[in-house]
Amino acid sequence: VADDSTTATRLRLRDYATIGAMSAIVLSIGDELVLGQTVDTNSAYLSAELASRGIATVYHQTVADDQTVIANAIGLAAEAAELVIISGGIGPTEDDLTRQALAQVLEQPLVTHEPSLRWIEGFFSRRSRAMPERNKMQAMHPRGSAVITNHQGTAPGIKVEFKRATIYVTPGVPHEMRAMFERSIVPELGAMTGSGRAILSTTMHTFGLGESDVAERLGPLMSRDRNPKVGTTVSDAIVSVRVRSESEDEQRASMALKETVEQVIVELGPIVYGRDHETIQQAVIGLLQEKRLTVTTAESCTGGLLGQMLTDVPGSSDVYHGGWVMYNNEMKVKHLGVSESLIEAHGVVSACVAKAMAAGAVERSGADLGVSITGIAGPSGGSPQKPVGSVWIALIRRGQAPQALLVQMPGDRSAIRNRSAKAAAQLIRFHLLGVPLETMTWGRLESADQS
Ligand code: AMP
Ligand code: MG
Repeated sequence: VADDSTTATRLRLRDYATIGAMSAIVLSIGDELVLGQTVDTNSAYLSAELASRGIATVYHQTVADDQTVIANAIGLAAEAAELVIISGGIGPTEDDLTRQALAQVLEQPLVTHEPSLRWIEGFFSRRSRAMPERNKMQAMHPRGSAVITNHQGTAPGIKVEFKRATIYVTPGVPHEMRAMFERSIVPELGAMTGSGRAILSTTMHTFGLGESDVAERLGPLMSRDRNPKVGTTVSDAIVSVRVRSESEDEQRASMALKETVEQVIVELGPIVYGRDHETIQQAVIGLLQEKRLTVTTAESCTGGLLGQMLTDVPGSSDVYHGGWVMYNNEMKVKHLGVSESLIEAHGVVSACVAKAMAAGAVERSGADLGVSITGIAGPSGGSPQKPVGSVWIALIRRGQAPQALLVQMPGDRSAIRNRSAKAAAQLIRFHLLGVPLETMTWGRLESADQS
C-alpha cells in the first residue's frame, strides 16, 4: 500500500538552522496596535525568524504608548527570557515613549549619542530639509546602552543588558525593523547562545487528513514532555507537523530529529508531501519530472486554480502543457467531448462526467495523465443528494480506466475551490507513487465507479 520508504527518501533531511537553546520575548509597542488599527506583523516576523534559528519565543506582548506600562512590560520580560526584542515607539513624536520607558526601567538618564545626532542631521540634509527639533530625541539613549545604526531611517536602535536579558529596541516601521534585525541582531545571536545546547527543527506538510486526525495518528509522538517535540498547525487545510529536537550537541539533535521524522512519516504515510518551504505543487511537478510524465487539467468549479498552482512552479512547462477551464455544460460537451446524455442522466457533478472530462482532456492534449474537477462550490446549487462542497475529482492514465473520487469539502466557496485544487494535486501525487486514491480521507471521500 503506502510506500513509506519512497516518501521518506523524497523528504530531504536538510536545511536545519542550528543555535543554542535560548528563550525570547517579543514586545510590540503602539496604540495603533492595541486599538486593532494596525496588525502586528513585526512579532510574527521576529518569532518566525527566531524559531528558524532554534530560539523559542515564549510570548508576544502588544503594549500601548504609555511610558509606565511599557517600562513594566520591559522589566517583566527581562526577568523571564534571555532575549527581548522590542519594536516601535522610537519615532520622533510625543507618543513614542519606548526610549524613555527603557531609561526608566534601567534607572538611567537619557544621553545624546553624538554620532547618531550627526547621522540624523545628515539624513535630513541629504534630503535638503531642516531637521525638526524633536528628532534630536531620536539620538538619545539610556546611559550605558549601545546604539544600533538604522540604515533605513532616522531612529537608531538600542541594545542593553538588563537582568537576565539582552534587550534590543528596533523601529516599528516593518522594513526598518527587518533590516536592523538582519544586519545587526542576527550576527550576534550565535555568540550570545555560546556553545550551549543545539536545537534543530523541521516541518512536514500534509494534505488529506484533518488536524485532529493527524494528532490521533501521531498519538504519543505528540506528548508534551517528549524530545524531539512534535506539534501540529493548520493553514488552508494543510496540516503541518513541526518537529523540534534539542540536545547537548548538533549530532545527537540531528539523529533524534531524523528518527522522529521517520516515525511521523510511518504514522502519516503518503499524505506527507513535503518539508519546510516545499509546496504541494512543487512535490507534484518534481514527481512528474522524475517519472518523465505529463499531465493535463480539465477544471470546472475551480476555474483554473489547479492550472495556476501547477504553473506557479518554475520549470513546470516540462510536464504541464496546459488544460481546460470548462465552466458550463455546453463548453464541456463542445471542447472536452463529454456526452450530453451523460450530463442529463447523472448531472454535471458526477463520477462519470468527471471521468469523461479527464478522458477528453487526455485524448485532446496527448498528455500521459489527465485530472478533472467538477463540483458545487456554492453558496447556491446544492441539494440534499449533492450538498454544497460535493466535488468529484477524476484521474486517468492514458490507456487505462479512469478513477473518480467524491470529496466533501467544508468551508465557503473560496475554501471549497482552494481545497479541491489541492486535493486534485495530492491525488496526482498518490497516483504517481502508486498509492490508492482513497488514502485521502480528508473530508468525506468515496471511491466510486458510478455516480
Ligand atoms: P513607530 O516606530 O512606533 O512610530 O511605528 C511606525 C509605524 O510602523 C507605525 O505607524 C505602524 O504603521 C508601523 N508599525 C509599528 N509597529 C508595528 C508592528 N508591530 N507591526 C506592524 N507595523 C508596525
Ligand atoms: Mg508608534
